[in-house]
Amino acid sequence: MFFEKGWVRMRIVITGAGVSGLMASLFLARDGHDVVLLERDATPLPEDAEAAFEWDRRGATQVRHPHAFLGLLRNLLRDDLPDVMADLVAEGAQDVNWLDFAPDTLDLIPQPGDEDLGMIASRRTTFEWVLRRAALRTDRVELRDGVKVTGLLTAEGTSPPRVVGVKTESGDIAADFVVDAGGRHSGIRTLLGDIGVKFPEERHDTDMAYLSRFYRLLPDAELPDNAVFTGGTTGYLGYGIFRGDGRTFSVTIAIGTDDKELRELIVGPRFDVAAGMLPAGKPWLAQGASEPIAPMHVMASTINRKRDLVVDGQPLVLGYQAIGDALICTNPLYGRGCSLGSVQAKMLAAAIREHGDDLQAVALQMHDEAETVIVPWYNASVVQDDAAREARKSGPGQTLTGAASILAEGLLPLTRTDAYVARAFFRMVNLLSPPDTLFTDPEIMRKAMEHWALRDTRPPEVVLGPARDELIAALKAAEPVAV
Ligand SMILES: Cc1cc2nc3c(=O)[nH]c(=O)nc-3n(C[C@H](O)[C@H](O)[C@H](O)COP(=O)(O)OP(=O)(O)OC[C@H]3O[C@@H](n4cnc5c(N)ncnc54)[C@H](O)[C@@H]3O)c2cc1C
Repeated sequence: MFFEKGWVRMRIVITGAGVSGLMASLFLARDGHDVVLLERDATPLPEDAEAAFEWDRRGATQVRHPHAFLGLLRNLLRDDLPDVMADLVAEGAQDVNWLDFAPDTLDLIPQPGDEDLGMIASRRTTFEWVLRRAALRTDRVELRDGVKVTGLLTAEGTSPPRVVGVKTESGDIAADFVVDAGGRHSGIRTLLGDIGVKFPEERHDTDMAYLSRFYRLLPDAELPDNAVFTGGTTGYLGYGIFRGDGRTFSVTIAIGTDDKELRELIVGPRFDVAAGMLPAGKPWLAQGASEPIAPMHVMASTINRKRDLVVDGQPLVLGYQAIGDALICTNPLYGRGCSLGSVQAKMLAAAIREHGDDLQAVALQMHDEAETVIVPWYNASVVQDDAAREARKSGPGQTLTGAASILAEGLLPLTRTDAYVARAFFRMVNLLSPPDTLFTDPEIMRKAMEHWALRDTRPPEVVLGPARDELIAALKAAEPVAV
């Protein structure tokens, strides 16, 4: 550790070169720290976005699924790492504004703040490849790939334990500070357990399976309307059509893990048939519009999980901070993970800048900020999942009641006709305002209640997908297509 006029330059070891680890490397290296980034996948930097798409990333298998890089992350790149943002765009990622793709039914007069309502449309592999390239450009980041962290080194006789480095299969590495950005499968429980630290953990399974496939628009095909992201739910399934970098796009269908019949029919050969039956998917998957560029991928066992490394105001460990999915993981359906991990990376750099080697203060600040900024999104994901589970149980054609009815038949339809509500909704979806914003704004609630009261006088809402029976019948009748 070097002291320079009150500022402390540290040697920081980061476990995991996923989005959170790369963002932490960028922020910490640009603050002048020396970063050793350890990644267990033996994955040298690919040459270009297409090589990155073939990247062997077994440690982060979700890279095979679509990712939306929401406004919070996009604005953080724009404001704090503009060179990385420019690199992304140069490599084909799309910096798109939600309002440019809003339905014609919205009368949108430009307003200050609209410029924040952007997101980055890109394959996750392209996004991560650009971040890694940027991290490696700084001579303060040393990436060692193919190196797995297997344990923590601690100072003698400290309580709580003070981490002073990591053990790896290829030897010990000393550090002033260790960041665990090991993702959902970080070995944090074992790593900390081995040095006598037990921490509280809360976990909720999402009970959903994600089925995804990437495609590319053919050279002569026009970009369909509403071309950034189109998502919807039919109750028994949720889906998203995600634009990627260049002319790539992807489709994800999320279904309950207990819906065995549907899963067995869609998983595998008939995925394209199901995707093509979604109204939003039709223009993308129409004959002659696109071709698949990857097999279909499935991911189940997704979770919301929250861990606490500070209990009753006391850090359980010093010189060690988990960020990203290793600390707080949210249902991927809401597209929050990369934004929340990146914000924690920035928060960590700020805490170290502010408190230097006062490791207790660093730990407490990270905990307080996570409670204020990150945990509300975790809680919101758990609540949203409970509501989705109820909707799946009730099945199609259900009569909605209570808050679910006000949301589905009052508030959400307004996002297509009322510019004030639409902006508030897009801000919330992009994590630019707190998760309860829509329900705590009296103006929005007044409008929603008025709209809801008139629900029986309006034409029925747009149908967002086929009825389950219709889909099942079509899948059974379809010729399997190899995936
Ligand atoms: C199906 C799916 C879809 C998703 N869609 C979105 C989306 O649309 N938008 C969004 O923002 N988020 C999305 N997410 C969430 C997002 O992928 C995660 O939140 C994000 O990847 C977390 O980043 P991370 O760096 O914390 O972990 P990861 O990206 O998982 O990276 C962890 C890294 O650590 C490495 N590692 C682990 N243990 C060790 C060790 N002991 N030693 C060395 N290296 C180690 C791993 O190999 C890996 O590379 C999705 C997730 C899933 C599962």
